Order: sequence, then structure tokens, then C-alpha cells
Amino acid sequence: MMTKRENQQIEMHLITIEDLVPMDHLLRKVNDIIDFSFIYNEVENMYCHNNGRPSVDPVALIKFLLIGFLYGINSERRISEEIQVNMAYRWFLGLDIMDKVPDHSTISQNRRRRFNGSDLFRNIFQKIVSICIEKGLADGKLVFTDSTHIKANASRKTEYIKQTEEVTNEYLKELDQYEETVRAQLESEGKIKPIKCRKRKEKTETIRRRESRTDPESGFYKRKGKAEGMHYLSHETVDSKNGIIIDVAATAGNVPDSQPYIKRIDYIEKNLGLKIQEACADSGYDTNLINQQLSERGINFYTPERTEQKRGTTEFQRKDFQYDEKDDRFICPGGKALPLHRLNRTINTVTKEYRCPKAECKDCPFRNRCIGEKGSDKRIQVNIFEDVVKKNHEKDGTETHTKVLLLRQIWSEGSFAAQKSRHNLKFLYRRGLEAAEQQCLLSSTALNLKRMIKAMA
Ligand code: SF4
Repeated sequence: MMTKRENQQIEMHLITIEDLVPMDHLLRKVNDIIDFSFIYNEVENMYCHNNGRPSVDPVALIKFLLIGFLYGINSERRISEEIQVNMAYRWFLGLDIMDKVPDHSTISQNRRRRFNGSDLFRNIFQKIVSICIEKGLADGKLVFTDSTHIKANASRKTEYIKQTEEVTNEYLKELDQYEETVRAQLESEGKIKPIKCRKRKEKTETIRRRESRTDPESGFYKRKGKAEGMHYLSHETVDSKNGIIIDVAATAGNVPDSQPYIKRIDYIEKNLGLKIQEACADSGYDTNLINQQLSERGINFYTPERTEQKRGTTEFQRKDFQYDEKDDRFICPGGKALPLHRLNRTINTVTKEYRCPKAECKDCPFRNRCIGEKGSDKRIQVNIFEDVVKKNHEKDGTETHTKVLLLRQIWSEGSFAAQKSRHNLKFLYRRGLEAAEQQCLLSSTALNLKRMIKAMA
């Protein structure tokens, strides 16, 4: 028999908002594990203590934004509408059933005027990560780093080509320092001749770059199989224990993944007090310099397997030359020595150059197979960081290596998938690098809260 409900919605009930929110609701669990009152201290200097109209409670304000990121609501106007009718959201903000919900424009004005230029969102993110560390949910023993692109709030019609002068970048400056150190050592050992001019000029390059008029801080992003256009990148480091995101940094979309990596590793160790023991990243991070710098920090580095590529057109390859460690030289298949000749610098690499004298190669029976018809002598270039790179890649294909790379996929790529589909990381609502970083931090905070609850259940 079919039942038709009569209108029963005019009955009066004696009820509190506390009764209306289920005991196992996500927001109750968030409130149980995090005491958000630390936010008052964070914002103390942003409010006047003896003047002006009473403000919206700053904790309610942050919780307002968090609701948007926890439930994937990407408009502040809509968050406000949802809070109006959702008892759990009201309860989380500390509002009673009949209390007025903060207007979306009040929220955005506070965010834009009061909080901009401050570290508030980073401090909140970091505070929650610190709680995770205190509770043993993250320990930094093995971390995964990767970046994901986020579409900038900029129409492609506003793009134009800009010509800029760029000075030597950070990476090249660091490489210069390593070159100096190795050169000084080899010179003092008498292995290479001292160079006449040591003065290094700051190099400037003229670069043609695609920029956006509406969001000039975003960067043109173009990678195989990915959407092309103006983007930002969220560089995130995830702890392997429970998938807690322990670091987030935003850059323009045209910044290579490897560029901010070492700085972020140092930032994590300094600000979170963690000692990273092992790190894993994709092949974009597998540069010689990063291998070296992680090794200096005592960090074991995992990256996908490197395949040895055939170099040059001649038959003899590097593996056909025997290295003589005692005399720091190579012995060629013809039995001749290739002593260290000089330290060779190209833009991105520093190599030790080993050379076989022309006179030895001239009448060599292997000449065609070794240097070809037109070559005059044989040279072998050895990157100054080669030993460290080789050591890191010794574990390629082992059971541990495979397991670590699989975990990277689960936690790093899994985090991005979750953030993009459920925590507002697909595109940016606002413009500028600061707004991008705030959005990345809030999205990661939302995911961390969910992962904390799951790990503590
Ligand atoms: S060409 Fe020169 S380097 Fe090559 S095998 Fe002959 S002697 Fe050795």
C-alpha cells in the first residue's frame, strides 16, 4: 500500500544544533583532532584591539574556507549558501541554528585585505603537519616529491610573447661553485693546468617567453599529454607513513620541477625538525646536481631506472674503455692511456675530459671503430657527479626500488588525483602567485585532515 506523507513540517521541536549533527560526521572528527584556537595567536597582529567594528571570528573565517576545500565547493558565495542550510557546517563554524552566516564578500575581503602578504595559510598548514609529526603520523624517513599543474585564471586570448633579459640562474651559480672546488683540487694535485682567467661574468640571456596579460605571474606550461596554457605548479612532498603532505610550494607553470627541490628539502628539515633519510621522485628530478646535493645531506635517492643511451656514431662506447682508478685515467681497447686532460664546462655540466694523444690514435688499427674517419683523437667526458649518480642507481630494479616507486605513485600521484577531483586544485579562482600558493596550501590542509582522521581511527 502506498503511503503519502502529509505535511508534518510545522511541528515545533525542542532541539539544539548539537542534536542535529551526527556523532560520526567528518567535521566532528576534524574538531576532535584539531584545536583551531591557535589561529587567534596567528592573526592577533592583523586586528585592531581598541577600535573599529567587531569582526567575524577569525577561526570561523578559516573554517569557512576549509569547508570549501574539504567538500570541493569552489565558490565562496556557494559556501555561504551551503552553510545557511547545512547544520553540520553551522555547527563547525560555531553558529547556532538562527545565527546569521558570514557573507561571502566579508570572507573574501578579509582574505584579500587582511591576510594577504602574511604567512597565515602556511602557518596553519604547518601547524597541522606538526601535530601529525607529534602524533607519529609522519616521520620523514621516506618522502615523495612531485608537482602538479593548476590552470591559471587567465584566458588564452590574453597571451603574448615577451622578450626578457635573464641573468644566470640559481642552478648555474651552484654549478659554478662545484666547478671552482673541483678545479682547485685538480690543480693542487697537478692533474690539470691552472686556467689563466678565473673571473666569472654574470651571464645574461635574451629569452622570448609567453606571458599572460591577466595573470603575468603564471607561466606557460607545455608537457606531453597535458593541457597547454598558463598554469601554476604545486610542488608537494608527501610522507610515506600515512600520506601526510609535509610541504607545499607554488611556482609559475614554466619552472622545472628540479629547480625548487633542494630548497624545499632544506626547508622541511629546518622548519619541521625532520631528518629525511630517503627521498623518491620522478625522472624530472634525476639531475646530476640533485643526486650530489642529496648525497651531501645523507639522503638516499630513488628515481626511475636510467637506461644507458648509445652515444655518438662510432662502435666503441664508454664501457669499452677500462678505468684505471690508481692513475685516474682510461685504457682504450688498443691498450693506450687516456689521461685526465682538463675540466670541461658547458652551460649545464662540468665534466672531466680524458684524452688520448693524437699521435697514438693516428695509426691505430681500431681508429675507424673508435673515433671514425674524420676524428683526430679520442676524448671521454666524465661528469663530476658521476660517482654519486651511479651509486644512487645501483639499486635500480631491486625489490626495494620497485616498492618505493610504487609507493610514490600511490601517495604522490594519488594525492594530486584526490586534490584535483575533491579539494579544489583543478584550477585557480584568483590570480597571482600568492593566491595560487594559498589555494595549494588550503587544498593540502583539507586532504591532510582527512588522512589524519583515517590514520587515527
Ligand atoms: S683510436 Fe686512439 S683511443 Fe681509440 S683505440 Fe686507437 S689508440 Fe685507443
